[in-house]
Amino acid sequence: MSEALTPQELVRYDRQLMILGLEGQQKLKKMSVLIVGAGGLGSFEALYLAALGVGRLVIVDGDVVEPSNLNRQVLHWEEDIGRPKALSAAEKIRRFNPFVEVEAVTEHVSESNVDELVRSVDAVMDALDNWEARFLVDEAAYRHGKPFIHAGVYGLEGQVIPIVPGETSCLRCLLPPSLRTPPKTPAIGFTVGIIAGIAVAELVKLVTGVGRSNKGTMIIFDAASMETTRVELKPREGCSCIGGNQTPSS
Ligand SMILES: [Zn+2]
Repeated sequence: MSEALTPQELVRYDRQLMILGLEGQQKLKKMSVLIVGAGGLGSFEALYLAALGVGRLVIVDGDVVEPSNLNRQVLHWEEDIGRPKALSAAEKIRRFNPFVEVEAVTEHVSESNVDELVRSVDAVMDALDNWEARFLVDEAAYRHGKPFIHAGVYGLEGQVIPIVPGETSCLRCLLPPSLRTPPKTPAIGFTVGIIAGIAVAELVKLVTGVGRSNKGTMIIFDAASMETTRVELKPREGCSCIGGNQTPSS
């Protein structure tokens, strides 16, 4: 993918070029990002990444749009009920920013497709709603050396962890792989939007070098108090990520 910006793109991104610089913007244009999930987090992540001018987005989701999704999954509208979420999301993003290439994959992420999906991109965004799939994607991203931005929401709270293979610990270091997802979790649009915004900001900082990356740190945001907490993560001894190289005293 060419990183040269057209005159229209230079106008479109004028205000953020003041922050990212031409080089930063070109890095975003050259990049491809996998968004795993086209629900609440995925809608906002795709919107923010497309607004930024990331060159190529791959949106994966095997679900169809349901009426109860519409309080937070802002890329799906009334007329999309019953349609595959990946198609609905991709279509909106193409209309929103024609300079962004979008691919829709109408499948659930699984052991049979995760490697191919992760291999085809430069970075992976977590927009999932279940831990089983998150661990699968976390492991594949680590295996293929792709940065993985974990994001999760529960009610008014949410968390983000930027994971960089070889540099930081993984999601499995932090949470037991036996963690299961409750059948129905509380979710509200503004929390989802804030957490997706934090996740995208961390990816942009990682890629462009603007600001300071929080890689290896869990950022916890609580909309009830508007407090943000940051927790430094440690590799779990014996984990297949960098935890495998840790001495017992660490
Ligand atoms: Zn680990």
